[in-house]
Amino acid sequence: MSITPLMPVYPRCGVRPVRGEHCHLISEDGRRFLDFASGIAVNALGHSHEGLISTIQKQAETLMHVSNLYGSPQGEAIAQRLVDLTFADTVFFTNSGAEAVECAIKTARVYHQSAGNDEKFELITFNNAFHGRTMATISASSQEKMHKGFLPLLPGFKYIDFNDLEAAAAAIGPNTAGFLVEPIQGEGGIRVADEAFLKGLRELCDKHDLMLILDEVQSGVGRTGTFYAYEQYGIEPDILATAKGIGGGFPVGACLATEQAARGMTFGTHGSTYGGNPFAMAAIGAVLDVVGEDSFLADVRAKGERLKARLEQFIGNYPELFEGVRGKGLFLGLKMKVEPRPFVAHMRDNHQVLAVSAGDQVMRVIPPLVIDDSHIDEFLEKLSAAAASYTPEDTV
Ligand SMILES: *Cc1c(COP(=O)(O)O)cnc(C)c1O
Repeated sequence: MSITPLMPVYPRCGVRPVRGEHCHLISEDGRRFLDFASGIAVNALGHSHEGLISTIQKQAETLMHVSNLYGSPQGEAIAQRLVDLTFADTVFFTNSGAEAVECAIKTARVYHQSAGNDEKFELITFNNAFHGRTMATISASSQEKMHKGFLPLLPGFKYIDFNDLEAAAAAIGPNTAGFLVEPIQGEGGIRVADEAFLKGLRELCDKHDLMLILDEVQSGVGRTGTFYAYEQYGIEPDILATAKGIGGGFPVGACLATEQAARGMTFGTHGSTYGGNPFAMAAIGAVLDVVGEDSFLADVRAKGERLKARLEQFIGNYPELFEGVRGKGLFLGLKMKVEPRPFVAHMRDNHQVLAVSAGDQVMRVIPPLVIDDSHIDEFLEKLSAAAASYTPEDTV
């Protein structure tokens, strides 16, 4: 037998982390890495956060799981906090981002079908989007590399160009149920939606009675310097998918909706065995205790601006490697003139610093939200050393 016990769907690198300390990871062989990848925007509070650990420990001793057949004081309390923090009136808890998007898709479809409009099932989505790896969420993405071998896709998705409002208006037809869009495309390469684009989608949805679904699985929970990115666009969605940072490392997600948008999500229409269990609710509570504070978010914005300014200054020294800096808050990307993947590997293997490559030749810089200036200094030092010692032919 040659297959590995761990199903070989990930091309894993040689770094094997076994412990986390604040903004650093320690590997099996004892090396120490500055973590500006954050488990792909998950470890919002870094590693080994005391509040998160003690809350989870206490909940584990008290009650980890009960079925959704029973009343949930823990779920009610966290749902109320999310309702208070956002546009939403109601929340469904999931165990992952893809499941949160799945719930959002179902919520949009049943919004129309519960009113007798069975023909309105199609969601318009955007090229280079990433919404997860389930059948519905790969079907929602235009990326053929995720479809290959898994056909047929779920029908009911139409792909158009991101930031193209005219195409969005033209794509609306009798089957359209709504739009599903990331305000800032993460996997797609930290591509930031224009304000006019998101505002325009909002207007189109209002005009045609369509659902505006935001996928904030990666951009949410303080990452951009506001609790959700939409707050910086002067709009509100009807439905929003969130996950990643919201558990700070605990696997949990949520689908948020207005009362109107959730009109079809009635008894028996949806469910999840684990979704919203007391253990997961404790983790969200610990994250909200930190990230839900205005002062913390203001600090993320300030740190994001300092990091962005430092990066902008830095890339001037290496015009052959870097083209620009994009993103908001601590959701940043370095647009490169060379392939980012081997450079990220070089940074990792030779300079002990972690970042993540993305589409559009971009390297994502997505540190824990709890970094301080010493981590920004350390990142710039290591990035500079990595750039100085790099020749693009080095494909590590
Ligand atoms: C990561 C991600 C998902 C999928 O989340 P999983 O927890 O991996 O299922 C969906 N949408 C966006 C924008 C993401 O970044």
